[in-house]
Amino acid sequence: PTGAMMGPEAIVERRKKYGLPCTAHFYSNPPHIVRGSMQYLYDQEGRRYVDFFTGVSVVACGHCNEAITERTVEQLRRLQHTSTIYLTQPMVELAERLADVLPGAVRRTFFCNSGSEANEGALLAARLHTGRRNFLALEYGLHGRTFLTMNVTGIPMWRADDWLDSDTATFIPRPWCDGLEPNAAARRSLEALAAVLADKGETFAAMIVEPIQGNGGIIKPPDWYYRELKKMLEAHGILLIADEIQTGMGRTGRMFAMEHYEVTPDIITMAKALGNGVPIGAFSMTDEIAASYNRPSASTFGGNPVSSATALAVLDYIERHGLVDQAMVLGERLMNGLCIVQKKYPDIVAEVRGKGLMVGAELKGCGERTDAEMTDTVLERMKDRGYIIGKNGVKRNVLAFQPAMIISADDIDGMLGALDGVLADVSAESYQSL
Ligand code: PMP
Repeated sequence: PTGAMMGPEAIVERRKKYGLPCTAHFYSNPPHIVRGSMQYLYDQEGRRYVDFFTGVSVVACGHCNEAITERTVEQLRRLQHTSTIYLTQPMVELAERLADVLPGAVRRTFFCNSGSEANEGALLAARLHTGRRNFLALEYGLHGRTFLTMNVTGIPMWRADDWLDSDTATFIPRPWCDGLEPNAAARRSLEALAAVLADKGETFAAMIVEPIQGNGGIIKPPDWYYRELKKMLEAHGILLIADEIQTGMGRTGRMFAMEHYEVTPDIITMAKALGNGVPIGAFSMTDEIAASYNRPSASTFGGNPVSSATALAVLDYIERHGLVDQAMVLGERLMNGLCIVQKKYPDIVAEVRGKGLMVGAELKGCGERTDAEMTDTVLERMKDRGYIIGKNGVKRNVLAFQPAMIISADDIDGMLGALDGVLADVSAESYQSL
């Protein structure tokens, strides 16, 4: 900051005055975060928080991870920016490295600056390749803030419905439904897809999906679901776009979450963790689809040396420290611990679900608190005990645990202990209020 350090109230006041009213923040009593170091965040007062959200799966290798920051800074000092119309090395090196880790024949990448932009590019690539205009998407998926990506976003709160096209996207029920057994919910989803395909299958360029829905409330379909879905799409010449913006780069215990289903998508999009906090987006495709992308396309900052050098350092770090396997092991510890908490507080914790270090705990209201109020109360009190947890879900009642992949087992155990304490308190209060 350039001026004197502001207190949280001064920041809130300026956000209200100079930001857009739609810009929300968590907590009724939010801390002013001034520093990050690996899995920890520090506020203005020097209080430490263990970060279990990482800005929605972004800082997967830890805040200000020296091994990565060093390479960002080195590139920043050497060559900050020029255009992709000149030759620079970091971008092509990154594309080559990604080709090594991307599944199947997906190996050509275009770089941009955000998740929305990556999905926008992927949707255009599908249109150019198939010559078709429309898209399929899942209910309660989230794919971005630009117009086309908002059209395929299925969460009402993230759409500007009055301004969207009515025919661009057809939504299929997602493979999860309150009260339905997971396999039955997945079958219901595919039956609905089959009906749409029988009616107008040849109008769709692609279906865009999150392998595990993030903002929709951490929804992981049964392993067979995407295999069946891919076959159905192929029969109608429809491409599958995997939005790996939250799930990619190892978080779920595989480099890309679609690998859990043994499915190779036609196009894969990435952002968030690829830059570990530095803006980057990317969409990757097969040779055939790339050949159809036959119009000039350039991005001023896409593929810039600083973001590319950072992403290369991220990939190196993930590989050198075995973070993909570690996400699986630590994820099981987190999931098991949360399941124990759920058994202890079944009146508050409705369900625990997810994969690797992408886990959600859906909460129920109790006493005078609604589902969403209960979730906000737990979030605030966890923050007061030094743990930053996320929140998502259609009803805003899912605690989201998406920590850095370098989190320690001790941090997970400490968080579970704190959660036990917070739930004991809110549970006691709820019964007092009955
Ligand atoms: N796809 C998914 C799955 C996301 O979670 C998000 C952001 N939360 C986006 C796309 C959009 O990314 P960005 O905010 O970088 O545009």
